[in-house]
Amino acid sequence: MLAKRGGCKMILRKLKKSLVLQKYDAIIPRLRLNFPHLQEIEREQALRLKGYKGEKAVEYHLDFLAVDATILHDVCLTVMGKQFQIDNIVVTSHGIFPVESKNYSGTITFDTVLKQLIRENGMKETGYDYPVTQAELQKFKLQMWLQERNLQNIQIHPLVAISDPGTIIKVKGEKCEIAKAVAHGAHIPGMVIQKNNDYKEKHAKISAEKIGRAILKECKEFDMDVMANHGIKATDILPGVQCPACGRLGMKRGYGKWACERCFTLSKNAHLKAIADYLLLIKPWINNKEAMRFLNINCKSLANRILKSSGLSYEKEFKRWAKK
Ligand SMILES: [Zn+2]
Repeated sequence: MLAKRGGCKMILRKLKKSLVLQKYDAIIPRLRLNFPHLQEIEREQALRLKGYKGEKAVEYHLDFLAVDATILHDVCLTVMGKQFQIDNIVVTSHGIFPVESKNYSGTITFDTVLKQLIRENGMKETGYDYPVTQAELQKFKLQMWLQERNLQNIQIHPLVAISDPGTIIKVKGEKCEIAKAVAHGAHIPGMVIQKNNDYKEKHAKISAEKIGRAILKECKEFDMDVMANHGIKATDILPGVQCPACGRLGMKRGYGKWACERCFTLSKNAHLKAIADYLLLIKPWINNKEAMRFLNINCKSLANRILKSSGLSYEKEFKRWAKK
């Protein structure tokens, strides 16, 4: 969490790699090369990584608004027992602006009559969910969430940010309708400022920080059972310490260091990533026996020493280590 008023910056929640993408990153190097659907899993990871990079690009532009507004990235809230995600929320003096980041390459065409989005990349046309409808739906959910907390009569204006400045945006139908809600990332701050100025004339001031903190308080980290979704069992996850230089699994421990047999890289703490992978993918805790298996070491006291110095906390009752 990052909250600074000193420098007049109010970014309550920074963007970071999602738990789901972290899981994909950890899983792929630990599957055997002939694992069924490996390509599909890799495609999914690439798509999510592209999305994350797009979100980073949009975050860069939005954060300029932090001088006057309260900003939260990667928001996940619950309304009526169901989770919903919003890439960015900007709360200004007179309104709330949910901003979705979209990363498309090539040319995109918004069809305002048929409510569809078509992307052309020179080779073929692909249809996508209509982002304007998605944004309106999110506005509706956010409105319900605010109402449940007695935060009423707040203006909400959803926006869609196209993260790649090279994407060509075309409209079939009502241009104004799209221009109100969709723009390249760099134009979004200007749109927020202008709309906020419009709101100032007719609507009461709101407490941006108070609303931002209320959202932050209930913001959850979005999670998904990636392993189950792709039919991956815990036994499919290959053990071993991964070489930080060449990516090979199975570094050998000797003389207080890990050594790669392929590229001869030496590492003092390559086991930290392996333990983190275990906690992310297998179980949220690890015991001595499992550490020996997963790190591929055959000395109990070495495993104990490693676990002790890995920044984990010991749960005496269960004789296991977990994240602090
Ligand atoms: Zn290596």
